[in-house]
Amino acid sequence: MSNQAIPDLTPPGFTRSVDHGRVHSLHYPDGTIRIRHECHRPRDGRTLIHAPTLTIPGHVVVSTAPVTISPSILCEDCGLHGFLSDGIWRDC
Ligand SMILES: [Zn+2]
Repeated sequence: MSNQAIPDLTPPGFTRSVDHGRVHSLHYPDGTIRIRHECHRPRDGRTLIHAPTLTIPGHVVVSTAPVTISPSILCEDCGLHGFLSDGIWRDC
């Protein structure tokens, strides 16, 4: 299956996309940051390109170049969990 076949739910309007390996961070003009990734959802067996926002109110964007966000980031749909620091994604 090619990448084009995976539904992409990424909202339009971001002005910057940074490649961190397994994820991309998308930066929107209002300051929103989304974590775009291939999301394999055990709940319904589907795979989507999904870009959830940072959900913890305490998330701090320490730096945007290179991107560092604290604390760790979790996608509740697929369980993706990792740290984004110095522009590099590291799985937990
Ligand atoms: Zn996910």
